[in-house]
Amino acid sequence: MSGIDSLPPLREVIAKHDLAAKKSLGQNFLLDLNLTAKVARLAGDLTQCDVLEIGPGPGGLTRGLLAEGARRVLAIEKDPRCMPALAGIAAAYPGRLHAINGDALTVNPLEHLSKPIKIAANLPYNVGTELLVRWLTPPEWPPFWDSLTLMFQREVAQRIVAAPGSKAYGRLALLAQWRTDPKIVMDLPPEAFNPPPKVNSAVVHLTALPAPRYPADPGTLNKVVAAAFNQRRKMLRSALKSVSPEIEDHLTAAGIKPTERGEQVDLEAFCALARSLHKS
Ligand code: SAM
Repeated sequence: MSGIDSLPPLREVIAKHDLAAKKSLGQNFLLDLNLTAKVARLAGDLTQCDVLEIGPGPGGLTRGLLAEGARRVLAIEKDPRCMPALAGIAAAYPGRLHAINGDALTVNPLEHLSKPIKIAANLPYNVGTELLVRWLTPPEWPPFWDSLTLMFQREVAQRIVAAPGSKAYGRLALLAQWRTDPKIVMDLPPEAFNPPPKVNSAVVHLTALPAPRYPADPGTLNKVVAAAFNQRRKMLRSALKSVSPEIEDHLTAAGIKPTERGEQVDLEAFCALARSLHKS
């Protein structure tokens, strides 16, 4: 018995299924089930929601999500060695856990989930940012999910919530803050994981806004922001030259000094610039 459910403690599960952590899969496991239940609670009330979990591993967070009452959990795990452990959890929560052995970058979760949907994960570092960018840039907004509760390296978490003028401010902050309300809601030291990573971690909670904070064409905004931060030390009039030959006029129309750098410009001004470019 583990405290949050009737299943064995995670150390026993890992030993039984021989789940020595693989670095290539970004495996740093959370073994304290009280902690995983706490992370699950950060996702809010789960009782009326389906939850998508990426990278359940031996199932610590999965068990937290189920113990906290998630209606259903779809867990996508790349490592086939974890599947027997996940099958044990599915048996303890009949009809509530569907575990798929596959790559989160290729499985379509919508074939298996019903709205409302929340996403919760201790993401593998090698695909974490790519998945977040995908969830933030769907073809239509609002997206299929209501909120994201994601564990990242602390440095990535800081890039998501960063304000203009800070070193961490860039494309990820602008993408996230344009259409969600992102907050760092928990810090975790390396010792919370097995094996301990070299860096600190943090949980970020992002709530999808019903509509973007400021109007802008998504493709144009994405292009401008990518170009502005591709050469972040350059003044915008040269960093954005490739976007439009009349970039100085567009910058001025948006209230941005052409000599400014991307890291000094806030989201509202970037959206104004995207609108001016899109109009022309
Ligand atoms: N959720 C578990 C926990 O908190 O203890 C494990 C988290 S561990 C940081 C990341 C997990 O993602 C590993 O189990 C790893 O095998 C899995 N993973 C890595 N790449 C993946 C991918 N492309 N698709 C699905 N799972 C992946």
